[in-house]
Order: sequence, then C-alpha cells, then structure tokens
Amino acid sequence: MSLKERDKKHLWHPLKQHQLQPESVAIVKAKGCILIDEDGNEYIDAISSWYTSMFGHCNDYIIEKAYQQMQQLDQVMFSDFTHQPAVELSEELIKILPKGQNKIFFNDNGSTAVEAGIKMALQYYFNRDEKRSVFIAFEDGFHGDTFGAMSVSGLSVYNGPFEEFLIDVKRIPTPDGNNHIDILKQLQLFTSTYKIAGFIYEPLIQGAAGMKIHNAEGLNEILKFCKANHILTIADEVMTGFGKTGKHFASDYIDTKPDIICLSKALTAGLIPMAITSCTQNIYEAFLSNEMAKGFFHCHTYSGNPIACATAIAAIELLQSKNIQDNIKVIAKSHKVFSDLIKIHPKVKSTRQIGVIFTLDLNTKMERYGDLRDKLLKFFMDRGVFLRPLGNTIYIQVPYTISKSELQKIYDTIEDVLEIV
Ligand SMILES: *Cc1c(COP(=O)(O)O)cnc(C)c1O
Repeated sequence: MSLKERDKKHLWHPLKQHQLQPESVAIVKAKGCILIDEDGNEYIDAISSWYTSMFGHCNDYIIEKAYQQMQQLDQVMFSDFTHQPAVELSEELIKILPKGQNKIFFNDNGSTAVEAGIKMALQYYFNRDEKRSVFIAFEDGFHGDTFGAMSVSGLSVYNGPFEEFLIDVKRIPTPDGNNHIDILKQLQLFTSTYKIAGFIYEPLIQGAAGMKIHNAEGLNEILKFCKANHILTIADEVMTGFGKTGKHFASDYIDTKPDIICLSKALTAGLIPMAITSCTQNIYEAFLSNEMAKGFFHCHTYSGNPIACATAIAAIELLQSKNIQDNIKVIAKSHKVFSDLIKIHPKVKSTRQIGVIFTLDLNTKMERYGDLRDKLLKFFMDRGVFLRPLGNTIYIQVPYTISKSELQKIYDTIEDVLEIV
C-alpha cells in the first residue's frame, strides 16, 4: 500500500478538513528546491516549506554542522546547564539583531516564541507591581495557534471556537501611508481607557493575511507612540526574519526598534524546530530580584537544544555569506521584472514585492479555503510547482539557493494558471 493510503489510517493533519480533503502527497526526498513524492514526481518548493528551508532542503553545510554537533552533545537541560552552541548562537544573533536586543530566550516554535513574548510583557508589569493586561494588535495579524498567540491573531478561521477563552486584545488597522493620524487617535483612546501591556505586530508584511505589506513610516509612528506610552513592542519576525525582506530583519527597515523579537521558521534552515524570543536589557532586568517568583518561569523541555543551536549558527553563517546575499538581490531583481510583466494581465488585480517575497492577487473574490484555491493548488502540483495560494492570493517565497531555470518555471506556471481562472 502507498504511503498516501497508509497515512489515512492513523494520521491527523493540520489545517485540513479531512472529510473534504482526505489526500496528502507523500514526500520521500528533498534536495535543494526540489521535493520528490513516492511516485517519483518532482515539485519545486516555491514557498520553502513555509519559509523555513531558505538555504535549500538537505543543505550539505547545514547537515555537516548538525552531524558534527550530534557526535559531541545531543541534548542537555537548559535549566542549570549551558553549552557552546547556545553561547555561540547568542553571540552571533546579537551581532545581527536590530539595535537594543541583548538577551536570547529559547522556545520550540513560532507560537511559543510569541507566547513567551506576551508573557514577558505581562510579567514585566506584574514584577513592577503595575497591572497591565490588554494588548494591541493589527487586524488580520497571525501570530500562531497557542492561546496567547491566538488571542493576538486576527484571522477568525483559526480562532472561532476559542474566542471566549482569549486574552483581551484591541485591534488597529495596518498603516497605509494615509491613515496613521487616525490610528494614533485610536491608540490614544485605547491608552486612556485600558491598561495596555504591549503591542504585537508582524513588521512590514503580514504573512498569513496574504503577504500584505504596510507602510514603514506609519508603523514607525505607531511604535514611537508605544514607546512614549510605555507600551512594550513585540515584533513577530517569525516569518520575516533572516533575509526574506532583503534585509536580515524587517525591523531593519523601521527606525524605532522593538523591545521584544520573536524568531523561528528560517532560524534553523528548516532542519530542526526551534524558536527564540529576544529582548532588551531593560526587559530582562525587570525579572531580576531576590524573589524567585519574579524570574521567568516559562520552559520547554528541549529549550536550547544543542543540535538546533549548531544548525542555527550555520544558517546565520550562510545568511551572511556573499553568495547568499548576492542571490537575494538577484531573486529580488528577477521578481521585479516578472511583476512588471504580469501586473498588466487582466486577471491580475495587483502585485507586491519585498526581497524574495513576491505576491499576486487575482481579480476574483477572496475566499481563503475555497474551490478556487483547490483548483490553483492542483494546477500548480500537476505542473511540478508547489505553491500554496491563500484564497485568491498567490505568493512566492523561494529558497535563496534557487536556480534561474527553477525560478523561471515558477513564473511560467503562474502565467499559465491565469488562463484557467
Ligand atoms: C508561522 C508563524 C507563527 C507561528 O509559528 P509556528 O512555528 O507555526 O507555531 C507566528 N507568527 C508568524 C508571523 C508566523 O508566520
């Protein structure tokens, strides 16, 4: 029996209505930008397996570094112990993180990185005997699927059944270059009515909302307001981190730097799950006390796993290499050429691009998980390209190591799909 058939017996997949979508494609191998299924079909991974495998799948350098670490130290508790990969990773990360970040806290995934960020902000005020319990977040943001992360997320398809159990969040629209005066007024009202602990945001680009890009100056005004009103700022760079926007972090485009940053996805080049919540010295110091209970009692068993840390160090090394930095520029340029070509097509409503992320909205009604999406997905897969449309939004986020011909094939396939929508 095929893997695809055996899968159906005991497995439960995420983000799926199994009654309507019983099938999953069984992947048996991945190398570079190519995924290979059990029947030998090849697919170009045009979204880097959810923005993780940015240096290509099964990258030789990453694997070598992980293997070396496996022979040295596999796992040790990070409460009471420390180790070289964690120390070295913290040093390397602080060198490239936006100004002000000084402490590195380990988590297992993007949601728990956000969860820890939210808890840091709440306890920061608790430790100072000041009760603040409300958060501000953007409409249509996505920050993960644990309770705190769900609370600050604004996409109801994920949160519907849990709404009554969530923490209190006030929402603001994303800045579009014209609305920030109104947003600041709204923020003023919120701060005079509620005790606001923090503002969480996906800087510059909202991934799950459909790769929506907002205005950097407007965001900067919001962040300046937060700083002036002691609202802690949490940048969720889980998607944007590590080069995708053309700079190492999306926060590098914005003058006002966050207090807390959440990282995951490309952190370990797609090899091992790990996440980080980093913060400023000021946040960290609010947890220093003679009382044990003022420490941060948030821990995951695999916190700071040495193999994951070694992998992350190797990924940061690759990110900073001339080769990868050049590739990022080449891909961005190539996206620009494609964008200029395709945006005048009658089936295309609009295109947008930042760094290696290219997005196209079709001239059709938005339906996040509907027939059109399934039709697009099938067309792409039949053509050997893995793209995962969000409703009528098609986006590309390719590994930095993609070849010119692979990239061209993705563009050609998108051009062809316009004929069937
Ligand atoms: C994917 C994502 C998360 C959640 O990360 P998981 O590892 O899936 O828990 C949080 N925030 C953003 C911006 C993301 O893109």
